[in-house]
Amino acid sequence: SDIVDELKEALERQPATKDKEEKKALRKKKKQVRELEEYRDKLIEYDNHLDTLGGRNSYSKTDPGATFMRMKEDAMKNGQTKPGYNLQIGTENQFITDFRLFPNPTDTLTLIPFSHSFQYRYNRLPNICVADSGYGSEENYRFMQENGIEAFIKYNYFHKEQRPRYTPNPFHAESLHYNEGEDYYVCPMGQHMNRIGTKRDKTASGYITESARYKAKRCEGCPLRGSCFKARGNRIIEVNHRLNQYKRQARERLLSEEGIKHRGRRCIEPEAVFGQMKYNMAYRRFRHVGEDKVTMDFAFFA
Ligand code: SF4
Repeated sequence: SDIVDELKEALERQPATKDKEEKKALRKKKKQVRELEEYRDKLIEYDNHLDTLGGRNSYSKTDPGATFMRMKEDAMKNGQTKPGYNLQIGTENQFITDFRLFPNPTDTLTLIPFSHSFQYRYNRLPNICVADSGYGSEENYRFMQENGIEAFIKYNYFHKEQRPRYTPNPFHAESLHYNEGEDYYVCPMGQHMNRIGTKRDKTASGYITESARYKAKRCEGCPLRGSCFKARGNRIIEVNHRLNQYKRQARERLLSEEGIKHRGRRCIEPEAVFGQMKYNMAYRRFRHVGEDKVTMDFAFFA
């Protein structure tokens, strides 16, 4: 904008001329200024789009609050995305205790803000939280533990582990023997894998995860090399000890008598409520546009 203003001013200050060549040059300059103005307007437009997006990677033009997501009901059967909101509900004895709409399609990131919403509504956090594996992240487990919430939340491989014929892959990092006192792993060939450092990652919510890295001393010529790993050099494993600890605790809780009871109820708690809403009451779409109105829409319905 500043450059455009400056150029315009300079062009206006130019004395009038009758020379054909000079006139042509002036016209060219004016055209360039107009082009610059167009670029500026485009940049402003892109900035506005980015502002509307926030942390999302899409939004609907007819409802900027809605994000394009893959829906379970896929009428076209081609995985086409549709604009929508991620509705989270909490239920107890098939009554909705709380709900909130989220712009992000992944459930992992919704558990903590949803718990805060519950706290805002009831002035306390829930005592127990039962949720499916889509919510089992380190950040969520940690939040539950720090806030004294008994979490019955599965992690991604829980179901696989519970199969009667499940045999863990002996080469998988989780199957390797770990010496906690001296902080090293023992690979399937019996070699020590010593700690070589720590890897830090940031999740989409800004949470920092830490994974310890261990490296085998010499993999060259090992007869198990083919089944062990594919990369070049010596094998390196990354282990998130804190997450593994949370998973162990979760497994223990989920397999306890109370855990089995909660797991049995989970599928007839929120799912039955969704069944009532979507199938019996045919509430499959929000009838309003904009997050506030959609929230109001669902609040009345709930
Ligand atoms: S390839 Fe390396 S890490 Fe794997 S078993 Fe052999 S020595 Fe151990």
